[in-house]
Amino acid sequence: MHEFEILKVIDELYYKYLPLREGKVASYIPELAKANPDWFAITIATVDGRVYDVGDYSQLFTLQSISKPFVYGLALEDHGRDYIHSKVGVEPTGEAFNSIALDEKSKRPHNPMINAGAIALASVIKGADPTERLNHTLEMFRRYIGEDVIVNMSVFLSERTTGHRNRAIAYLMRNFDMIDSDIETTLDLYFQQCSVMMNCRQMAIMAATLANKGINPITKQRAVEQQYVRDILSVIYTCGLYDSAGEWAYNVGLPAKSGVGGGIIAVVPRHFGIAVFSPLLDDHGHSLRGIRVCEELSRRFNLHIFDLLMGESKLDDIIAAKTVE
Ligand code: GLU
Repeated sequence: MHEFEILKVIDELYYKYLPLREGKVASYIPELAKANPDWFAITIATVDGRVYDVGDYSQLFTLQSISKPFVYGLALEDHGRDYIHSKVGVEPTGEAFNSIALDEKSKRPHNPMINAGAIALASVIKGADPTERLNHTLEMFRRYIGEDVIVNMSVFLSERTTGHRNRAIAYLMRNFDMIDSDIETTLDLYFQQCSVMMNCRQMAIMAATLANKGINPITKQRAVEQQYVRDILSVIYTCGLYDSAGEWAYNVGLPAKSGVGGGIIAVVPRHFGIAVFSPLLDDHGHSLRGIRVCEELSRRFNLHIFDLLMGESKLDDIIAAKTVE
């Protein structure tokens, strides 16, 4: 596909789904309720460094749960698989993102994508003090997008003030010695990673970095050790969309992660990253327009991972499988 055609496709999807005004902006974190329901952007970033976008692609918003796979990668780099998986499993739950449930036998959270798992991982991120741990986390995000990253203080404080359910989850894990650090310090880091601000284009570059085996396709800097990219992709494929992960795997068939800020990313390994931003959410907490756009892109171009593996994808002549090393 020539550049013009990719732009034509995303432009068409943008205008097709812009009138879709179902769903609701998240309000359980009061600051998120200020989002404009009309914000809508689609970006495709390829592994050879091309970026195509439409709509409000430079509008900043908070990553929320889209931060989780990247922090999971950082935790793996900090401690290795054995330790990290003594703290968190890799099983999908079939339950909502904020489920207060731990694995019955091991008392671990089921996976790193639900809040419990992400909070457990925030408790082990390396650093001598809270500032170092935050900077270590922000530096990781910086490698993925090639630009400085900041935390939205209002969203952070808003979630910190109202996040009693996450606090309950953290205390439950403390009770079972799954967390042994200070609860409030751990929750602060979790709320801060969720309050990291990005725009749709930057999110697509993060997804493209995963598609490119962990190397940012624009700066050519490694963002995460290659050995952990497969771990991240496996976990977001099976658990990234919580209680609709199975349906997503069946319909769209791409590793993906959503956040209640309205972002969603999907990874087409060795080809490109897709990001959609639209804050109107469905009942599972996923961007409604985001889901529709990804479903349609997957269907039209046979992007489902098994279509790709079977050689049925319509992308081979479109965006060459090129890895930038
Ligand atoms: N910070 C949000 C929470 O913990 C993240 C939820 C999400 O994006 O799915 O509730």
